[in-house]
Amino acid sequence: MSRTVFLNANVIPIEQSPYSGGLVVEGTRIVHMGSDEDVMEYAGGSSTSIDLQGKTLLPGFVESHMHPFSLILSRLTLNLTELDSLSDVLDAVKEASRDLEPRKWLVGRGWDDNLFKDVKRFPTKEELDRQASRNPVLLIRVCGHAAVVNSKALEYFASRMDTSAISDGVLKETVLGEALHIMPRPPMERMVEHAGPVFHDMFSAGLTTMTDMNGGADNIRLYQKMRDRMDFPFKIRMYMMPAYLDDLVHMGIQKGFGGDPVKIMGLKILSDGSLGARTANLQAPYSDDAGNRGILNYPFEEVHEMVRKASENNLQVAVHAIGDAAASVSVDAFAGVRGAAKLRPRLEHCQILSREVIDKMSNVGVIASVQPVFASFDYPWVEDRIGKDRLEYAYAWRSLRDSGVRLCAGSDAPIYPYEPLLGIWSAASRKGIRKPGVFREAQRLEVMDALRMYTIDGAYSLFEENETGSLEVGKRADMVVLSSDPTTTATDDIKKIKVELTVLDGEVVFDALTP
Ligand SMILES: [Zn+2]
Repeated sequence: MSRTVFLNANVIPIEQSPYSGGLVVEGTRIVHMGSDEDVMEYAGGSSTSIDLQGKTLLPGFVESHMHPFSLILSRLTLNLTELDSLSDVLDAVKEASRDLEPRKWLVGRGWDDNLFKDVKRFPTKEELDRQASRNPVLLIRVCGHAAVVNSKALEYFASRMDTSAISDGVLKETVLGEALHIMPRPPMERMVEHAGPVFHDMFSAGLTTMTDMNGGADNIRLYQKMRDRMDFPFKIRMYMMPAYLDDLVHMGIQKGFGGDPVKIMGLKILSDGSLGARTANLQAPYSDDAGNRGILNYPFEEVHEMVRKASENNLQVAVHAIGDAAASVSVDAFAGVRGAAKLRPRLEHCQILSREVIDKMSNVGVIASVQPVFASFDYPWVEDRIGKDRLEYAYAWRSLRDSGVRLCAGSDAPIYPYEPLLGIWSAASRKGIRKPGVFREAQRLEVMDALRMYTIDGAYSLFEENETGSLEVGKRADMVVLSSDPTTTATDDIKKIKVELTVLDGEVVFDALTP
């Protein structure tokens, strides 16, 4: 088996003390660690060696919540992120429709009414009709929980689904989910073509494990095609949508089924919406929308039943909960099912919590799967939505950690950028990205704790802490080399740290180190 020596590094193994030196990789695994002299001696003369030039070697980053399929799809759709006026969004639609044959779908995503400087509202159906009358148009909001369509698109849906819940061309939550499911998708071949560059970009950010939080048949088809055609290794861990629960049970699929590149972990339940679209389910009404408490997609009994069924069949459950009411329902469902705790239940997002919910999460052993960059992006408008009092447990990563809750981290990409170093900077600084300032400084995490979320605790959330997430003899060689050490870099500069090398299962998948 081929042996590679990585040497001359500042090694941060995560679970052991940092040291200077390197390690030896044989095949896909780490077989030896030590000083430079020691690893050279162990490896012997005939092995390849890579000089890491004094840079910092860490375990590869685990992205705990993202949507790789949507990320690839987003390369094939009109990008509306960062547009800061409604008129710019409408102009972009007009221009895109000019290049499109009649009747072809025009799909855009990423618009955010919170950023609009002209009018802070959703585009309307009539406005979209004026920009593109010959094409069906669907524009997904940045959060992925709401979209607007024009009349042509509405006609298409009206003949195929119940559209009574759609008013003024706005689709939300489950209705949007259904619409996305029945509308035509780009051919699989085009998806595969774009998958290579998308994965290369993820490797260049230091990601070695990607968690797909929207598992479905199309995703499996795509990853199988990638497995057959791509010349690079990759690791996807999937949580399947509730529509697949019965199939999983019938087929006897349990958590961790598969291997590399794709494992099925269990079930993903979307219990509420988003704070941005005011569909996250809150205990008390929105501060900027009297009477509205958001949407609970399933009543408690249904969430409980899904958790029970999944747990009895050895499937892990991840519940999306952004509002405190949705979080409370979800944690109660976990608490009410015997054996659920052993399956490492996950609460996704955890944006608005309460002391009570945090304590319950700690008691039940619920993992908090958080997206640190959300704090930096959302900070300018969170207070408008929930008011001052509820801010105490908003994006409260530190309170969770101090209560003994284990945290893993992701980005929800393509919703927000997936760069782990940006996430680590957000977690450690709580600084705003679009607006200067700090979002609740008391909730800052230590850099080492932020690193743990992206490494060993991410691995734990996937039942892979014995395989990856730290540098140890016997573990997989999933590694990343950084231009400087995040634990000694000034917090503000962490987001400027560069990824120099990414190694997945012993194979170099990104290299900016070798000239
Ligand atoms: Zn998500």
